[in-house]
Amino acid sequence: MIAIFLGPPGAGKGTQSSRIAARHGVPQISTGDMLRQAAAEGTPLGLRARKIMEAGELLPDDVIVDLIRERISRPDCAAGFLLDGFPRTSGQAEALDRMLAERGLSVDAVVNLDVDEGKLIERMAGRAKNEGRADDNPETIRERLRVYREKTAPLVSWFEKKGRLVTVDGLGEIGEVSRRIEEALGSRNGGTRTAGALS
Ligand code: AMP
Repeated sequence: MIAIFLGPPGAGKGTQSSRIAARHGVPQISTGDMLRQAAAEGTPLGLRARKIMEAGELLPDDVIVDLIRERISRPDCAAGFLLDGFPRTSGQAEALDRMLAERGLSVDAVVNLDVDEGKLIERMAGRAKNEGRADDNPETIRERLRVYREKTAPLVSWFEKKGRLVTVDGLGEIGEVSRRIEEALGSRNGGTRTAGALS
């Protein structure tokens, strides 16, 4: 299964995609995590990424697309993968389509996690306390939401037109949201997969 987790910052893409990935035995690929790791290691890419992340802006498409191209060509991606935080622009979405087409692959589903904006701000403020993410301060949160609306939100209708979008209510208990996602993925695949017991 190749699936994309789409949604504004704070919608729960990371939490949900890692749960669903573990359940399906495929890797979760988070460009944000990859960049944070590079920043912690102090690599040239990491140092560049840190400044951009702290400002709440996006890295250039070519940099991110190169990261993804290398990552999805590793053997652990042979049976599929879940993308968390990529694509975030129409340029990235088109590049992904091309990359997959070259390998005879395509995206099976795009999970759009829908959460009201007031709730997002609340969640990110909570995350700032618990995880200490440098980009979870009020000013950067506002900018990340603005960038989401401008650059990423248009992908929702782009994927909808391609018939691959499932929108899931991202509000609620973590296990309940996971169950909704599994159900939506199952019905997209002909309804053969059951939601199973997710705690
Ligand atoms: P995330 O953990 O997905 O919220 O990503 C944290 C930050 O990493 C974002 O605010 C961007 O600065 C950067 N980033 C992550 N993914 C991408 C992407 N696909 N394109 C550009 N920048 C990204």
